[in-house]
Amino acid sequence: MRTQPIVFPYQPTWSNTRINLLQRCPRAFVLRYGLAQLSKHHAQGRLLSVAFQIQTPWVLLHQTIREVLLDYIEDHGIGNQWSKGLIRARVKADYTKAIQRRNQRIRTIQSQQMAQSFTVVEPELHLIEMGVDACLKLLENPNFVALLSEGSIERIEATTSVLQGKIRIYAAPDFIHYGRDRTSLVKFNLYGQATRSERERQAALLMMYGEHDSRIIQFSLKYRKWSVNTVASTQTQTKQALNLVSQDVEQMEAIFAQVGKNNDLSLIPLADSFRSCMNCNVRALCPSRHGYEHAKAEQRSLMCQ
Ligand code: SF4
Repeated sequence: MRTQPIVFPYQPTWSNTRINLLQRCPRAFVLRYGLAQLSKHHAQGRLLSVAFQIQTPWVLLHQTIREVLLDYIEDHGIGNQWSKGLIRARVKADYTKAIQRRNQRIRTIQSQQMAQSFTVVEPELHLIEMGVDACLKLLENPNFVALLSEGSIERIEATTSVLQGKIRIYAAPDFIHYGRDRTSLVKFNLYGQATRSERERQAALLMMYGEHDSRIIQFSLKYRKWSVNTVASTQTQTKQALNLVSQDVEQMEAIFAQVGKNNDLSLIPLADSFRSCMNCNVRALCPSRHGYEHAKAEQRSLMCQ
């Protein structure tokens, strides 16, 4: 793949997805946010971007749950009531479409002889049922029912960012509720209950999208049950969270700076654990495809030279 040498792409950017990927595997991070972006006008670069768009059926199910809930909330705001049957039909249709798009991406990659770890699947009925169950349980949750019983709603796209100094931050709430007494910034956490400090950090960053007296409401899904946390975050906490964001961005810049001439990635650390490689979108481009332990040992010896 012919590309220009890596520089930090466009402007420093922070999101949970970015920092999580960097922590899981610096090499995958550089491929996704460095090479794939810089070479997006080349066929190979586009292929790399397609590879990174492939999500597991589990992730697609949770993306579907979020979309259906947000559409429900928007419709509720204009007085349209959904039946349980409509919710079931929406989850089934949206999830099926998501799986079809995923299969299409996998076929595109396979047609270019770029082997990867994913295989095409059919939408599984038990996952659809799980999605319907999660939606219905939230819509019956007393805290959620109380929230929607008055006021108005503004849906916020996940791509809505905030510029803090030189850093673009993606940490948007799912929607804002304008109530009689106050404004609430509402976030769905669909991948399990975050730790207390993770929730506090998330709340502190969410405050950037509201007023100083806004409250944060986090609905978290774990083991098919919803829990709710309501927090009033302070400006000091937001400042502390922004300091951590700056430190994360410094780590990202440091990793990009390690990319060698001609985009040589040999010194970019591989994942710390083989578990990260099992569902990796770009394993076909990684030395670990010939054996993780061997690739780690080779990299250690390179680093000592
Ligand atoms: S296969 Fe493993 S080491 Fe290689 S890029 Fe993927 S996660 Fe990182």
